[in-house]
Amino acid sequence: MADSRPNILFIMSDDHAAHAMSCYGSRINRTPNLDRIAEGGMRLDNCFCTNSICTPSRATILAGTYNHVNGVTTLATPMDNRLTTFPKLLQGAGYQTSVFGKWHLGTGPEHCPTGFDDWAVLPGQGFYHNPEFIFAGPDGGTRRIVSGYVTDLITDMCLDWLGNRDRERPFCMLYHHKAPHRPWYPDEKHAHLFLNEDVPAPDTLHDDYENRASAAAAAEMRVGVHMTSTDLKCEVQKGLSEHELREWAYQRYIKDYLRVVASIDDNVGRVLDYLDEEALTDNTLVIYTSDQGFFLGDHGWYDKRCMYEESLRMPFIVRYPKEIAPGSVNDDMVLNVDFAPLFLDLAGVSVPETFQGRSIRPLLQGATPADWRQAMYYRYWMHKEHHNVYAHYGIRTRRHKLIYYYADALGQPGAIGETYDPEWELFDLETDPYELRSIYGDPANAPLVRELKDEMHRLQAEVGDERYVKDTD
Ligand code: CA
Repeated sequence: MADSRPNILFIMSDDHAAHAMSCYGSRINRTPNLDRIAEGGMRLDNCFCTNSICTPSRATILAGTYNHVNGVTTLATPMDNRLTTFPKLLQGAGYQTSVFGKWHLGTGPEHCPTGFDDWAVLPGQGFYHNPEFIFAGPDGGTRRIVSGYVTDLITDMCLDWLGNRDRERPFCMLYHHKAPHRPWYPDEKHAHLFLNEDVPAPDTLHDDYENRASAAAAAEMRVGVHMTSTDLKCEVQKGLSEHELREWAYQRYIKDYLRVVASIDDNVGRVLDYLDEEALTDNTLVIYTSDQGFFLGDHGWYDKRCMYEESLRMPFIVRYPKEIAPGSVNDDMVLNVDFAPLFLDLAGVSVPETFQGRSIRPLLQGATPADWRQAMYYRYWMHKEHHNVYAHYGIRTRRHKLIYYYADALGQPGAIGETYDPEWELFDLETDPYELRSIYGDPANAPLVRELKDEMHRLQAEVGDERYVKDTD
């Protein structure tokens, strides 16, 4: 008899912020195919990453643990492929498993994908046009350049694999796009989008970083100012004020970003069509997410890393008609560390005790447990490297966010060993949703600060992480 456990289609893109998806109310683009997932299922409005950068977030998702536990703290810490991951557990439980596209957890034989019946991944970041792939095989696989556009190619590989699968057993496929990661090269099909129009700019494009810790002004990810000619596809305009430069570069940047997103949307539509045609929709959990959020000109920035909302928030839409009411929305706090427990729960596989998240299946069914988390712990380790973002940790509750910039590499690979005096920030997300005014220094907030620090230290200890040596309060 055929195994009727649900299929899992886990779609993840790279650096796709929720505010560039129409199901999240985007002011700048439409994503009709991604919206099909939300319309047929649930949109999570408070899904957060525990470290807003590619490799660490991917390790957390696969291994179900925080980065201080799985060892993948920065981009220079590839994942040890001996770790227990959800694909390995599903494979062991009889699922057909595969991953196609972005891996970015290391490319040597000791870091290539394991726990998959088949795979083909991009080495490192990979390229948009005519990319090289590493295909499954002994000794770390074999490399071959494939002609075409990366988003189309990854989708073709997924559709081929689905077409050749064993129809008697459930599958778990990781369909992982490189797009819309920098440097945002669109394909020919979408290059004409937004040609004769301006894309609305975010309210905080001209942020001056006043009333915050010095970390905000120090970050080197300002649109225009810190972009290269590769990012902009032309030379940086000379003789402009920073105000003018941000306006000009924002248009160059965001249009390419959205063109690249449009190709993802088209291609996800092809896969959703396949599920419909093959009558797989009812018994398949489909998720679309991204490894973290991204600044789309918000605060005058591109990139991520920071604990601010645009970078912290992951898009997460999920469809599974058997258990999720169509068009539903949930605003409970969900973390990337919760994904693995969900997949295992759904497949009827017990979650290892070493996993640190919690299955969100009850949330999807509209029955959030009374003891669900009301606060989350975050930590960014890659001090200064690439964009001069200082190492920090913090807590976000439903209303407040407390951030501690300890600004120390702590010997982490890939971090830069220059240390600064620690600083704090506190935001009231209800009265200041854009996080433009830290209220940490206001004496009236001392009791609130005390409460948040205690809760942050409690969460930190609960997940097994350690306080910075100067965080003695
Ligand atoms: Ca990423």
